[in-house]
Amino acid sequence: MIEKQGENARRFAVGTRVGVAWLHETDGVCEYCRSGAENLCDNPTFTGYTVDGGYAEYIVAPEDFVYAIPAGFPDEQAAPLFCAGIIGFRSLRLSGVKAGARLGFYGFGAAAHVAIQVARHWGVEVFACTRDVRHQKLALELGAAWAGSTFDEPPKKLDAAIVFAPAGEIVPTALKALKKSGALILGGIHMSAIPSFSYELLYQERMIRSVANNTRQDGEDFLRVAAEIPIRTHVQIYPLREANRALNALKNDAISGAAVLRIAE
Ligand SMILES: [Zn+2]
Repeated sequence: MIEKQGENARRFAVGTRVGVAWLHETDGVCEYCRSGAENLCDNPTFTGYTVDGGYAEYIVAPEDFVYAIPAGFPDEQAAPLFCAGIIGFRSLRLSGVKAGARLGFYGFGAAAHVAIQVARHWGVEVFACTRDVRHQKLALELGAAWAGSTFDEPPKKLDAAIVFAPAGEIVPTALKALKKSGALILGGIHMSAIPSFSYELLYQERMIRSVANNTRQDGEDFLRVAAEIPIRTHVQIYPLREANRALNALKNDAISGAAVLRIAE
C-alpha cells in the first residue's frame, strides 16, 4: 500500500495496493537495459538483498519498479506472485512451451505451484518430479498429468523441463527426460554443483539455460495473466517475528505452496 509519495512520484496515488519484486532497480543505461534485457543489468539493486526491504513494515521503492496488485487478490494471496510467481513465469517463457507441449517440473514449491496454473492455462501438460509426497499431491490437485519422485522417469518424453530445486544432481536426470531439442531451464539463483554427465544426454540439440531475475515486462505480463486465470496461491502465513521458523520449514519441505510473512500483528 502506498503510504507516502516521493517528491516527484506521480504513478500511484496514496492508498493504492502495490507490490515490489526482487528486481529493485536497474541503471537503465547499460547494454542489457538498452536492449530490453534489464534482468541482466550490470548495476542492479535487489529488494532485501542489496537494499532494505522484504522483512520490513515499510519499504522505499522507485515507482517505475512497483506493480499494482490486481483487485481480485487479497494481500496474502498476492505476495507469492511478486517473487516466486514472476520467476516461474520467466522460466516458463524461456522454456518456449506452447499449447500441447509436455513440460516437466523438478521441485514443486512456491514457484512451481504458481507456474503450473499458467502452464495449464496455456494448454501445456505438466509432469511434476518432487521428493515430497505432499508436494506431489498438490501438483496433481493443480492439474499435473503425472507426479512422481525427483529421480523417477516421467511416463512421456518432455518438450521442456524447469528445475526449481537448487540441486545440481537433478540436471542429468532432467536432461534424460527430454525429447530431442528439448530445453532445460534452471530456475534458481543458486544451485549445487552439477555433476559431469555423458554428452549423449545433451546431444540432439538439447539445451540448458539458467534464469536470472525478471524484467518489468515479465512482471506486468505475469500479473495480467494471473488475474485473468485467476491464479489461486496456496499460502502458509507466519507472523514476521517467526520468520526464522518459516525459513526452517521451507528448508525442510514443510511448506505446501508458499510461505508468507504477515507484517502487521
Ligand atoms: Zn542496466
